[in-house]
Amino acid sequence: MLNLVIFGPPGSGKGTQSVKIAEKYNLAHISTGDIFRAEIKEQTELGLKVKSIIEKGELVPDELLIDLLRSAMDKSPGQNGFIFDGFPRTTRQAMDLEQLMKQRNNGISLVLALDVDDSEIIRRLLKRAEIEGRKDDTEEVIKNRLSVYNEQTMPLLNFYEQTDKLVKINGVGSIEEIFSSACQQIDRI
Ligand code: AMP
Repeated sequence: MLNLVIFGPPGSGKGTQSVKIAEKYNLAHISTGDIFRAEIKEQTELGLKVKSIIEKGELVPDELLIDLLRSAMDKSPGQNGFIFDGFPRTTRQAMDLEQLMKQRNNGISLVLALDVDDSEIIRRLLKRAEIEGRKDDTEEVIKNRLSVYNEQTMPLLNFYEQTDKLVKINGVGSIEEIFSSACQQIDRI
């Protein structure tokens, strides 16, 4: 099994790269952000609960994530593994993921961290706002998402550095260039 985590600030290209990596290596792509957006669209109980949190750019509470992840994994069996996009975002979530993997006699193979600086992120997200019209892509919310990332998600880099699974990839360049760097790292394991 090949189980990957793709890590990086909002707008670093995690979603774009995850789709390409999932296709090439036959992995199930699990994006917690996409799952939440679908729940909001369908106005499910969970969707209604998380809508205002997401629109403010805050993180959904950790305890709501693990069951969501477990059921997403159960829905996509039979592939070579998983690529987790936008999860974990806190140290608690990373520990929950370790447990979940262990219960399945598995583990995280590699954490790909996309490196993109803040000014490039803001530029990309404002452009995405024009194209996709995501409610959390306004300038004010983007700035909050970046500070939430820096405060709550960045510490995870230390967590993964200690496991020797972390590789950093330059997230600035063409989609194909970044994809090729990611594949080089995946092919080494
Ligand atoms: P994304 O599409 O990954 O940028 O996620 C959009 C929003 O969904 C985030 O800004 C959070 O509000 C929420 N979200 C997605 N994944 C998580 C997660 N692992 N933990 C907490 N909140 C999340």
